Amino acid sequence: MNFQGKTVIVTGSTRGIGNTIAEQFASQGANVMLSGTSDSVNTVVENLKNKGFSVAGFAGDLSTPGAAQSLIEKTIEVFGSLDVLVNNAGITCDKLLIRMEEEHWDKVMEINLKSAFLCTKAAARIMMKKRSGSIINISSVVGLMGNVGQANYAASKAGLIGFTKSVAREFAARGITCNAIAPGFIETEMTNSLSAELKDNYLKNIPLGRYGTSSEVAELVLFLASDSARYITGQVINIDGGLYM
Ligand code: NAP
Repeated sequence: MNFQGKTVIVTGSTRGIGNTIAEQFASQGANVMLSGTSDSVNTVVENLKNKGFSVAGFAGDLSTPGAAQSLIEKTIEVFGSLDVLVNNAGITCDKLLIRMEEEHWDKVMEINLKSAFLCTKAAARIMMKKRSGSIINISSVVGLMGNVGQANYAASKAGLIGFTKSVAREFAARGITCNAIAPGFIETEMTNSLSAELKDNYLKNIPLGRYGTSSEVAELVLFLASDSARYITGQVINIDGGLYM
């Protein structure tokens, strides 16, 4: 896939899945705007620049007022355009419902769901003028299946799916596609923090018998952003080794 001359934003790309998506786009010639909550994003950007990639970074909490708009403005300032938005930034804050406080619920909703709304709204203004664009939302298999201790996370990821389908319908006539990806268990810092017992339980239920990799998720994102996927919109693509079927 060739993304030469295309500009891509990947939210939450200092590490994990987002970082791999950003690097794969950059290695296919895209200009990539990375994002993270702190200035440590600059170190990640420097490392990619040293590999010869066209990248820049934005530091900010994307659930806070004005941050999403600033991210889009900085992208236009640096690269002059915007073709692909990947809403990947996300957190978990797992608690059994009975112990879940409002702040645990609100934080997860704000970062996983509201930040996607804010970034999409700001990006769509640019894409509508160009009459083209791809928006890819990183949901989760948990948004389809639910999970013990993840009522907040599951609700945010299920919300992203409804959001994806609505955005796909609203912007189809403008040539903008919007799809969601629902990864299963992918090896990253987020999943490394789970207990060994929980990880073993997941593994037993994955027909392909292994966890997924960030690269496998990134390859799917690049496909959905490519010209080969222009007739795909409003879909949720599962990438989970068969965990949910
Ligand atoms: P991760 O390793 O924990 O990385 C999360 C990224 O999001 C980091 O770059 C982090 O930046 C950024 N971020 C967090 N809060 C943010 C905020 N308020 N504003 C901007 N950026 C923020 O996560 P991951 O495992 O790669 O997961 C990436 C996405 O895939 C998430 O949406 C997750 O829900 C989804 N997912 C993951 C799995 C899995 O198995 N790993 C499965 C299904 C879905 P900082 O470095 O600054 O904190």
